[in-house]
Amino acid sequence: MTDAHILIIEDEVKLAKLLRDYLQQAGCRCSLHHRGDDALQRIQEENPDLVLLDIMLPSKDGMAICRALRHVSQVPVIMVTARVEEIDRLLGLELGADDYICKPFSPREVVARVKAVLRRSSTASTPPEGLQLDATRYRARLDGHDLDLTAVEFKLLEYLAASPGRIFSRTQLMDHIYPDQRIVSDRTIDSHIKKLRKKIAAADPQSNLVQSVYGVGYRLEEE
Ligand code: CA
Repeated sequence: MTDAHILIIEDEVKLAKLLRDYLQQAGCRCSLHHRGDDALQRIQEENPDLVLLDIMLPSKDGMAICRALRHVSQVPVIMVTARVEEIDRLLGLELGADDYICKPFSPREVVARVKAVLRRSSTASTPPEGLQLDATRYRARLDGHDLDLTAVEFKLLEYLAASPGRIFSRTQLMDHIYPDQRIVSDRTIDSHIKKLRKKIAAADPQSNLVQSVYGVGYRLEEE
């Protein structure tokens, strides 16, 4: 935690400074940003260890920023919200946020959440041994067996394997596979995953490599 760099994106200047004070006392370095429209650019420039992201921001809201950010970065994000009804959406990981904090919050809570998320992100999870991905040829091997995947199946597996243990919603997977926002149903992802699993099972019947998370989405098994 010491010396972790936190970028606080919050338009209420007083509140942003309060957050900075809490986190500096806990040993973090903090920088502040007060607008939504250029927040993504600022995140990319600063490359922080964690982003505290308010949802209600002028010109571009925190949810849109988080969604856009996930196309380019896996930096840990904690959403800050005053609207309790939003928590379900945040929890459903629709956005790819790592955690959320509800206003009003206590200093202790903020520091505890930040610490927990930083800890999770620093212990790098590794994909199971035996899985080999060759992105130039869209080729995946499991324990030496060629999985013979389609391009879409390969992209799904590669995306999940980049963050083992992390849960991806169907929406996140769809955005990754179809970045042109083509309208496809959630079930499209389920059907690709089903075929992917069938091929994995053919290589290793005991494998639990691609796991369903009930009501949320999918994740890759961690070693
Ligand atoms: Ca706000």
